[in-house]
Amino acid sequence: MKLRIGILTAPEIRWERGERNGKPTFVLHDVRIGIGFHWDRRQTQEFAGELSILRNPNGTQTAVNTVDLEDYITSVISSEMSADSPLELLKAHAVISRSWAVRQCTVRSAPSALFESGCHVGFDLCADDHCQRYEGLRPVHRRAEEAVEATRGQVLTYEGGLCDTRFYKCCGGRTEVFATCWEDRDVPYLQSVECPYCGRAVGRLRRGDKAMLDCLQSYDRETLDCHDWQVTYTADELQRVLLEKTGIDFGPIQALRPLKRGASGRICLLEIVGEKRTERIGKELKIRRALSRTCLYSSWFDVEQADGAFTLRGHGWGHGVGLCQLGAAEMALEGASAQDILTFYYPGAEISSSFSSCDI
Ligand SMILES: [Zn+2]
Ligand SMILES: [Zn+2]
Repeated sequence: MKLRIGILTAPEIRWERGERNGKPTFVLHDVRIGIGFHWDRRQTQEFAGELSILRNPNGTQTAVNTVDLEDYITSVISSEMSADSPLELLKAHAVISRSWAVRQCTVRSAPSALFESGCHVGFDLCADDHCQRYEGLRPVHRRAEEAVEATRGQVLTYEGGLCDTRFYKCCGGRTEVFATCWEDRDVPYLQSVECPYCGRAVGRLRRGDKAMLDCLQSYDRETLDCHDWQVTYTADELQRVLLEKTGIDFGPIQALRPLKRGASGRICLLEIVGEKRTERIGKELKIRRALSRTCLYSSWFDVEQADGAFTLRGHGWGHGVGLCQLGAAEMALEGASAQDILTFYYPGAEISSSFSSCDI
């Protein structure tokens, strides 16, 4: 199975030919990663496979890499976490990254598809966190290849159907259900489970534990406060951020009222009370985007108002649905198998040896 991955859109794509282990590659400059998030930055990246350059109607160009599914997965598991992670974590990640990619590419029009129509025209998936991180050949090491080899073709299924295997960095102590973030429906294998593991993982990171630091990309090591965090705004700052991010002038902010929370505590409906306007926003990602110049770590927070300032005390990094990457890393370091990790975060799901026999 071949996938077309949209790597970069720019006024003009700058690229050159390269070579790695005697095989031709191509190198792209100024590839933006973490778009709109707090780790937003640019990298030079190198890729195997084919490069094509699409010309978009607005005059920009998009670099698209056509790559074999298993080579794509090898890079994704090395980019999402790190190829220095324990083998069982990489195997678990290979199974979910493969399941997610196959499902997204096969059911673009299904209700569960992530994409809005018109998104990703001319390619199947993007290379950033919107889909899955795919940073080409640089982060790949032998252990990632071994994990992909050991799980070749394997996917996660539930009652014969291919699972929608969501994941994120850190749940903050409890995972979330699907409906808090996306459509209002129950996905039986995306239940809320108590996760004691990511708290222990963050403890290790703070102590400088090498085995856990090795599980993360260097730029993710800048976010060691992700399990329990806080952000403080003056009322003025909050008003400015909300205006910048939502386009709405609320006037001086009087209150932020969580109206509805998911099973983990993530807010999915928030009332913003200003002197000029009162609005309700949701779900999870809209709330995170509205309340930060980049994106709030998560929508699981309590609001404290004192002396004209608003303090958000929160937990976790990401939507919280499905696998908690830091928790899974901790489980693997404590001796869990890939199977144990997947069964814990996707209760009732099972590993199937081939996606060609699944209902999608
Ligand atoms: Zn995408
Ligand atoms: Zn967790």
